[in-house]
Amino acid sequence: MTKTRIALLVLTVGVLNGSQVAYASDPAHADQAIVPPAEAMSRLKEGNGRYTSGKVQHPHESSEERAYIATNSYENAGMLFLGMTAAEAAKRRAELTKSQHPFAIIVSCSDSRVPPEIVFDQGLGDLFVIRVAGNVIDDQSLGSIEYAVDHLAVRLIVVLGHQRCGAVKAAKETIAAKGKAPAHIQSLVMAIQPAVEATVNGDLEATVKANVKDVVQALRSSTPILKPKVDSGELKVLGAYYSLDTGSVTFLD
Ligand SMILES: [Zn+2]
Repeated sequence: MTKTRIALLVLTVGVLNGSQVAYASDPAHADQAIVPPAEAMSRLKEGNGRYTSGKVQHPHESSEERAYIATNSYENAGMLFLGMTAAEAAKRRAELTKSQHPFAIIVSCSDSRVPPEIVFDQGLGDLFVIRVAGNVIDDQSLGSIEYAVDHLAVRLIVVLGHQRCGAVKAAKETIAAKGKAPAHIQSLVMAIQPAVEATVNGDLEATVKANVKDVVQALRSSTPILKPKVDSGELKVLGAYYSLDTGSVTFLD
């Protein structure tokens, strides 16, 4: 089967399913499923809903799926055998070997109480996660995000702050005391400093949210990869706040 025929088949299946899944116009990703930002948001909201209501599914985590994902693209998994002969299916599997198609990028704090896969009830292959104390970004994490946007065609980035964040609290206290945090911890204080200064009279949660906003803004204005995609509406960057008390994620404007 030619590439065009495969792309056509995949497109037809997408239309027949009435799904919102689109396919890349970039020839490098010609037959790669792209999950639009709105669809990715719904998946995260639904997953957090399952988590807070205690009805978690732990999707994509069974041993069969683990083995399957290790050698195939999960997003395209259901399309492997549609109308294909065994030989065509084998060829398709070979094409998808070692690929991954996560539907969202999550930039979250390293805090052990806020693992994105758990609070959004997602499994293997679903989320591309960057975790640093205080959910700040440096060049390496920005490079990771750019990779996921550019090579894996992810169309939603969520910066996830959380209630009573220890990193933000430490930054607030260190700056208030005009002190310096030990060793490399000071680099986190410096990254969070603008949010601390913008919320001098606010409480810790105000600073947590201001810090999320700063990181969202930094990502939206990052050139040359992210900004043009944000400006065209192809890529969405959103802030969110996780409540330790309730387990719920609130998306911030
Ligand atoms: Zn934290």
